[in-house]
Amino acid sequence: MKKSDSITEIRSLRWQDPTLSWGLVPTMGALHIGHLSLVQRSISENDRTAVSIFINPKQFNDSGDLEQYPRTLDADLALLAEAGVDLVFFPKSEEMYPPGFQTELVVNGVTKPLEGAHRPGHFEGVTLVVGKLFNIIQPTRAYFGQKDAQQTIVLKRMVTDLNFNLELVVCPTVREADGLAFSSRNVNLSQAERASATILYQTLEHGKRMIEEGERSYKVIKAAMEKKLLSEPLAKPEYVEITSLDTLLPLDPLTGDLLLSMAVSIGDTRLIDNFMVSID
Ligand code: AMP
Repeated sequence: MKKSDSITEIRSLRWQDPTLSWGLVPTMGALHIGHLSLVQRSISENDRTAVSIFINPKQFNDSGDLEQYPRTLDADLALLAEAGVDLVFFPKSEEMYPPGFQTELVVNGVTKPLEGAHRPGHFEGVTLVVGKLFNIIQPTRAYFGQKDAQQTIVLKRMVTDLNFNLELVVCPTVREADGLAFSSRNVNLSQAERASATILYQTLEHGKRMIEEGERSYKVIKAAMEKKLLSEPLAKPEYVEITSLDTLLPLDPLTGDLLLSMAVSIGDTRLIDNFMVSID
């Protein structure tokens, strides 16, 4: 496995054989089974796989959150070597944003609701860094998790609008046995908080079941999901939404392809999760 923090070196390693297909898995490190599922998918679909590890300061709207974000580079590199990754890019912030950096990359529309409404500037940071990674690595395919559903929708929009020459692959959310989605942030949960964090999954299940049983009222399902979340004393919901999967805007009555999504703080840890549900 080759590793580098230099854009120039990564470019030369990537282009040693231009006939090979490359998969890219962008991450912020503190790797877990969810990340590794993306890596395995990339390895199975491409000649070579690159993983980036970069805690992108521009996508954190809260400096405390950035400081608290777990950093485990040595363990990450060991996991990636064992998984069979070919190239790891772990630039320093100055490599990605050198003095004089002045460019922004803004997707409108789908960046505005949900996470966009609660984390101002977050998606501008995401699109900027992913756009840079796409230009640096020029992957054939890039792999993202359904766990960050809005991110995949925003990035698909960016790839289409800016004609990035790659296929964006969305991989299913990997969960622990009790339904909690794997997340780098889970390590920050105390034992009691970890036990209560399963409420996100239970609430999504509850909403999904109501839809499957025929409920079509946005208000009724949203209220039921909020009530379920609030039944867990340690959970502080930021938002719970039922939206169109395409526009990410609420719709009433519910119809078509839907996204049930939420952001919930458990103690100091902010967790997100979602389900996709389709009504025929
Ligand atoms: P992060 O390091 O949190 O930025 O995540 C890097 C990539 O891994 C993103 O595309 C995430 O959506 C994806 N990812 C994170 N957690 C999971 C999970 N539990 N299952 C599947 N993909 C995930």
